[in-house]
Parts: sequence; C-alpha cells; structure tokens
Amino acid sequence: MIDTHTHCRHSHDSKEDPENMIEMAISLGMEYIAITDHFDAELTFLPQFDYIPQIDLDRHFQELYDLKRKYADRIQVGVGIECGYMKEADGLYLDALSRYDTDMTVNSVHTVEYEDCYLRSYFEKRTKHQAYEAYLKAVRESLDCAYDFDSVGHIGYVVRKSVYEDKSLEYADHSDLIDDILKTIVSKSKSLEINTNAKGTDLEFLPSIDILKRYRQLGGELLTFGSDAHDVSRIADKYKEVSEQLRNLGFKYLFKYISHKPHPVKI
Ligand SMILES: [Zn+2]
Ligand SMILES: [Zn+2]
Repeated sequence: MIDTHTHCRHSHDSKEDPENMIEMAISLGMEYIAITDHFDAELTFLPQFDYIPQIDLDRHFQELYDLKRKYADRIQVGVGIECGYMKEADGLYLDALSRYDTDMTVNSVHTVEYEDCYLRSYFEKRTKHQAYEAYLKAVRESLDCAYDFDSVGHIGYVVRKSVYEDKSLEYADHSDLIDDILKTIVSKSKSLEINTNAKGTDLEFLPSIDILKRYRQLGGELLTFGSDAHDVSRIADKYKEVSEQLRNLGFKYLFKYISHKPHPVKI
C-alpha cells in the first residue's frame, strides 16, 4: 500500500507527530507514505484568514529529511507538501519550493473567487451550478500554475461542505469543463488523485466514478492514492476498496513519487 497525501502537526489543522504516522504506515505493511502538510500561501492574500498560521517550511522539511533517513530501510518516506492554489500566490510557491529537495507536491484548490469553499457563506450566495462551476474553473486554472506539482488534489472538494439537498457533482452538468481539466492533466503528465476523505459527500472517494471513467477514456493513466489523513487513524483508509474499483475500471497501477518522478505500484 501507498499513501501520497497525509498531514502531521506542521499543518495548522493536525496535531499528529510525523514519526507516529510513519510507524503506523510500517505497521500497516505499507511501502510508501508521503507527508504533505498544508502550505497555504494563498491565505496571505485573504485577510479574513490571518488567524491561520503559515507553515514553518524549514522545520517541516528538516524533520521529514531526518525521518526519511532514519526509516530508509523500513519504508519510503516521501517529503511532500500540499499547495493551496490561488493565482496571486504563484510566485510565492515557485520561490519557496525551489529552495527544498522534495518528492511530492499535491496541488489543491481550497479557495475560489477569494473565498474558502469549505465555508457555508460560499454556497449561500451561489446556486449549486454556480458554486461547482466556479470551483472547477479554479481547478482548471490551477493546472497552469507557475510552480511544478505532481498530483491534482481532491477534485470535487467543493462537495464536502456543500449545503444543497442534492450535493452530487455530476459529470454531465459540467462536462466541457471537466473534460478540459482531465485532458490537461493527461497532456501535462500529472496524476489525478483519488482522495478517500469524502466525508460530507455520498461518495466513497473523490473524484466520482464517472469522472474516473472519463479520465481513462481520455488516456489518463497516472493516479495517486491519498487518504488526506490528519492523524494516524486514517492512513491508507479504504485502500483496498479503491484498488478494487480501479481494477474494475481497467486501471493497473497507482503511482508513488520519489524526487517528483512517478513510480508504478501494482494494484
Ligand atoms: Zn486539501
Ligand atoms: Zn490535504
């Protein structure tokens, strides 16, 4: 098993010790775990979030380098980061990430039109179609960011806290935009992330099966598995179920990233 998207106490929303994460991954028999704490440089442009502390990148990466070395003969530790995309923050990410030697960058959209689409207020002023379309446009824009990244984090994140009676993000309602996103992921050789933190949706994981089917139809092969665990309890959560679903769809591999190179892992 692998997990390419997890958080520890260098993220503002986790208290977990990274060493506990690695020990747990070993006890689960995993071959790879990337720790990808939140780097939310976009929030520096949004004064309403100035209470959220920024990650200490030096401390984060140094601790991961040390642990990667310490555990090298027992498990592969991916030194990672999750960037919260916003156009204005492009330069900050480009600059900061060029200073570190890393394995895995997850690029995610949490902020849409200068609002956090995890908050109720985002949905209250938009119809479902507007809210989801604006989110997907931000995802499309994120693929053209200036910094390098490996996987596209949790497509469908907007659904997690959505307030509509029928929350589902249907491929058919946004097919042109979703096709554009998927074709761009394929042409840029990025990975589409399967994210099993689907709490709040009626899915087992993000994105939905119809989006995964379409990805395969369009020639998509690169996939990562991310539990998005914020503590030891959810590491590799639903790995077996996801693997089975992927096999049914005709996929053969998930990918782990070492020095930003994808390595296939048979599923
Ligand atoms: Zn995220
Ligand atoms: Zn995350």
